[in-house]
Amino acid sequence: MVVPRLIERKRSGQALSAEEWHALVAGYTAGEVPDYQLAALLVAVMFRGLDATELAALTEAMLESGERLPRPVGGAPRIDKHSTGGVGDKTSLILAPLLAACGVRVPMMSGRGLGHTGGTLDKLESIPGFTTRMPLADAAKQLEAIGVVMFGQTDEIVPADRKLYALRDVTGTVESIPLITASIMSKKLAEQLDGLVLDVKVGSGASMPDLGDARDLARTMVHVGHRAGCRTVALITAMDRPLGRSAGNAIEVVESIAALRGDAAGDLMEVTMALGAEMLMLAGKSESRSAAVAQLKRVIRSGAALDKFREIVQWQGGDVAVVDDPSRLAVAPVRRDVRAGHAGRMPALPPRALGEIVVAMGGGRRTAEGIIDPAVGLEVLPRVGQHVAGNEVVAVVLARSPGEAGIAETALLRAMDAAWQRREEPLPLLIERITNEDTAPYGELAWDH
Ligand code: URA
Repeated sequence: MVVPRLIERKRSGQALSAEEWHALVAGYTAGEVPDYQLAALLVAVMFRGLDATELAALTEAMLESGERLPRPVGGAPRIDKHSTGGVGDKTSLILAPLLAACGVRVPMMSGRGLGHTGGTLDKLESIPGFTTRMPLADAAKQLEAIGVVMFGQTDEIVPADRKLYALRDVTGTVESIPLITASIMSKKLAEQLDGLVLDVKVGSGASMPDLGDARDLARTMVHVGHRAGCRTVALITAMDRPLGRSAGNAIEVVESIAALRGDAAGDLMEVTMALGAEMLMLAGKSESRSAAVAQLKRVIRSGAALDKFREIVQWQGGDVAVVDDPSRLAVAPVRRDVRAGHAGRMPALPPRALGEIVVAMGGGRRTAEGIIDPAVGLEVLPRVGQHVAGNEVVAVVLARSPGEAGIAETALLRAMDAAWQRREEPLPLLIERITNEDTAPYGELAWDH
């Protein structure tokens, strides 16, 4: 393999063969291909893209750089979901126990928050003692024992991605649909899934704010999943406002526990039910969306979903008492009410600004090594479109000090004021459903009765 010739070919828009992609990824992971050559190749991919065969080969080569989550022969269907990230998006915390309570095996391998978006691992670690770091063999053991494990990517899974992602980060090549696809899908395929549900966010708080880009990413990931033998469905959902009532870490665990008890904001439950229904259908546990929703609601009502969450906390070393008494979770000492300042229909608050307020209070990280304060966060009380009075409390800031609460309040009032001025029509919450066969408007989800 003569790497400069491969770079030249890609640069001029030609396809590289599967063998060439495998040799490149293996050589780079082993330190035989230097960063500067891979960087040049990444830039060429950014401009020229990859055809479907190349993308499948790159994804497979990355997958083969590491281990896979062990899987016994037969057994219950293994289904995961992945979100492209947002603010207040705690659906993974609800879906993992909920689907496991329906008899689906859920290896929920998640990430940490970075930038304005939150991360499932950080949220879970706000439960005292809860560990998300475990060897793959332990994750597989827990998965078989209780049907669900919520863990972080280990060094054994797709080591090529860790190196490649770091290189993309410093070479301006993160926002490439084929490179994002290979990165996400190689890690998901390492879980040896039967099915995968993707929640691709769109709107100002999403990594792909534009619907066309989000749709391209969703279609590309769905095709790669299918080619690799993993049935994959994507929903495009709104991230032009935060999801649910809270943004932060401990505060999102509190909201997730409430959701598992059947007491959650409508928007959060709508997205959770839509994703959960797709997971149940991929698992072959439900024939239709409405039957799936009914099944999900049954395990919430019976308490089985909450019991499963209790089991997860117990297996992963967390304080189980939190499940019945969420007030045991850390809460920042200063609570500041924020009033609407305008009367009328509540506008969509910009998730990016809200996420950045949480980060500024210490609830998110600015660098990959940053430490999180689980106790700080924001609550947003009314739903988009709900009528509010000018002096009504619409948000609550939870901060470490009065000074930090003041800064957060000022930033929140500024963001709210801009939203009131713009009065943009909110996006429909559930926008499109993308399968290997077609792309269709999502339509209505009858979940609330
Ligand atoms: N998440 C990933 O894991 N990889 C990307 O490239 C983007 C988001």
